[in-house]
Amino acid sequence: MQIKTILNRVQKFKSFVYGAVHLVEGASVPTLEVELQPRLNSHPICSGCGYKRPGYDRSPERLFEFIPMWGHKVFFRYAPRRVDCPDCGVRVERMPWVSGKRRLTEAYTWFLSGWAKRLSWKEVAEAFRTTWDHVFCSVERAVSWGREHQDLSGVEAIGIDEIQWQRGHRYLTLVYQIDSNCKRLLWIGKKRKVKTLLGFFRWFGQQRTKELRYICSDMWKPYLKVIKKKAGQAIHILDRFHIMTHLSKAIDEVRAQETRELKEKGYEPILTKSRWLLLKRPENLTDNQETRLSELLQYNLRSIRSYLLKEEFQLFWQYVSPYWAGRFLDKWCTKTMRSKIEPMKKVAKMLRRHRPLLLNWFRAKKQFSSGIVEGFNTKAKLTTRKAYGFRTYKAVEIALYHALGALPVPKTTHEFF
Ligand SMILES: [Zn+2]
Repeated sequence: MQIKTILNRVQKFKSFVYGAVHLVEGASVPTLEVELQPRLNSHPICSGCGYKRPGYDRSPERLFEFIPMWGHKVFFRYAPRRVDCPDCGVRVERMPWVSGKRRLTEAYTWFLSGWAKRLSWKEVAEAFRTTWDHVFCSVERAVSWGREHQDLSGVEAIGIDEIQWQRGHRYLTLVYQIDSNCKRLLWIGKKRKVKTLLGFFRWFGQQRTKELRYICSDMWKPYLKVIKKKAGQAIHILDRFHIMTHLSKAIDEVRAQETRELKEKGYEPILTKSRWLLLKRPENLTDNQETRLSELLQYNLRSIRSYLLKEEFQLFWQYVSPYWAGRFLDKWCTKTMRSKIEPMKKVAKMLRRHRPLLLNWFRAKKQFSSGIVEGFNTKAKLTTRKAYGFRTYKAVEIALYHALGALPVPKTTHEFF
């Protein structure tokens, strides 16, 4: 059997035929070149308008990289025809194996971008003996195709989140669809300003925005403002994940400060290495951690009192009726305000200020658990942290859409992996 036969099985073109296959002598990596020819009497198609046009001349031969095979790089070798198009002028013909002026074939592009979902970009480049740039271009192409072809109908619930990227306080705003039947990253914007989120709504469009029923977000002022203005009809929920994050951050602050104070006063550093004891849910602690926690609880420290306040706040989420949840919230806030622990008081004040939005979670019948946004948040951080060359915003953006966007891929007759 000839290689040509396999090629015809995996990727057959209507108006082109495979010719001879050569092993390239003296190449640094074993390389195969496959000749391509137009089928007899076939007319070239203008790459400008997509119509059959009379031929004009032929450009020099070009190589198009195809999927490597058995440790061999594989190239198509073809001299593109140029057409004399009455609408577009003299243009190169359209070739079904490649898009635009690329050097990588479509098949190879989708092959690489598919692997880039499973491995890091660097690993893909190494595994297939190609360059990081080729992997990047492939993923970029997959993302732009996917975003052009994605179906945005029926989005009823969105979650808005932010992540930090790079060092310092650089943020990205991420908008997810969090409907029960479809969860995916919809949009990314730089920073977390009013302008950022307005950018999302502009992209999403007025009609679709009107159809939104639920929006989950953090208590971040610019977000609250934009949501109210643009999607006032939706139930706006302050979700559990973000609220618990605020409490954890407050505990962290109290603990750090108290550790310093204790050290200065010469006390035994009881709080050192206690961070996770205080931040983890009690049911997730190991036996050893549990013993240490019960020891810690004997001290009347601000960190411990903050920890207990946070644990108590967990009860809030158990309520069913917004009315009783509200009563609980009021009591908890009063108690926390009396604790004289500044970082905790700050959270209590913030919760008080946003009481109606907090209670919306119960009005929405708790259907948006913290798990959805939290899960995306974790994955997004992981993706940006796989730092391989993601120094630029563009690369981070593409990596996130690729990993979390659940983007469609074109239907092909053959699956290459
Ligand atoms: Zn044309």
